[in-house]
Amino acid sequence: MQRWGLPENKLPAGTVVLFHTPTLFEQFRAEVLTAGGMILFQTLLLFTLIVQFHQRRVAEQKGARGDHRTGAANRMTSMGEMTATIAHEVNQPLAAIVANASAAQRWLDRASPNIAEARTELSRIAVDGHRAAEVISTVRSMFADRSGDRSTVDLAEVTQNILLLAAGELTAVSVVLKSDIRIGLPAVLGDRVQLHQVVLNLVLNAIEAMHLVPGAGRVLAVALAAQGQQIVLTVGDSGPGISTENQSRMFDTFFTTKPKGMGMGLSICRTIMAAHGGELTVAESGPGDTLMRCAWPAKSAGFGGAVA
Ligand code: ADP
Repeated sequence: MQRWGLPENKLPAGTVVLFHTPTLFEQFRAEVLTAGGMILFQTLLLFTLIVQFHQRRVAEQKGARGDHRTGAANRMTSMGEMTATIAHEVNQPLAAIVANASAAQRWLDRASPNIAEARTELSRIAVDGHRAAEVISTVRSMFADRSGDRSTVDLAEVTQNILLLAAGELTAVSVVLKSDIRIGLPAVLGDRVQLHQVVLNLVLNAIEAMHLVPGAGRVLAVALAAQGQQIVLTVGDSGPGISTENQSRMFDTFFTTKPKGMGMGLSICRTIMAAHGGELTVAESGPGDTLMRCAWPAKSAGFGGAVA
């Protein structure tokens, strides 16, 4: 069959093929699929870690200057920078993996598969996978000492900061802000920069959702209060709402319905909330009424003072 270039799938039904030589993929199917799965997993992990690292670095640089307004405003526009960083870091090994995988496939798909060439391509894929793994371990080591960043955080202050920053944007897109932020609430223990990120993300998502509905009647409702042993923040908007189907996917990495969205915001927010022993959920959603809810365990000490 090999000599006459007869492909196996063209044989009449019921034909018995003797002395069939299994292809590399048939022989090592589990190994090839495992390697592919690992590379995909490592790539996703790499994306998430680089985004988190970059957001944190931008926030730290701005925070060091003590200029909260500029800091968060820049975080708002950091998506473009982040994209460039990620593209730069992972584009090369990714492109090589894809090219080598296609080459290996072509070698295997030939009427007489060239096992040696396919093997070479697979080992190149493994080398690129290791290269990606090295980058991941470097990024991970940068995150190793994050526990040192924990401090008591006043969520009222964090929320007020973000609303102050968003004020210009709210006016520009005719959104009325209704805020009910209790002062003197118990503190939460956490990473101030990350908590700013969570609130900022929810507020920006709410504003962006309202771009989809007519200007009149756009309302952003932000409330912060204690509920039992928890501090609860709700961010409501009068946007189009979130379909039941999207509600089950919106926290997934890379899920987005926006033409220029990255779909990373909510998945990062949820990871941050989990790391703080809290949770992030959709409390309600229907046309003109979406309410996102964050709940943190309260630390016993209260902040008593006024918010910024
Ligand atoms: P991105 O903003 O880049 O799309 P996110 O992870 O922040 O990424 O959001 C994922 C998706 O969740 C959005 O694309 C949108 O479809 C949906 N979403 C998030 N917040 C809201 C909201 N307040 N109203 C309607 N849909 C929302």
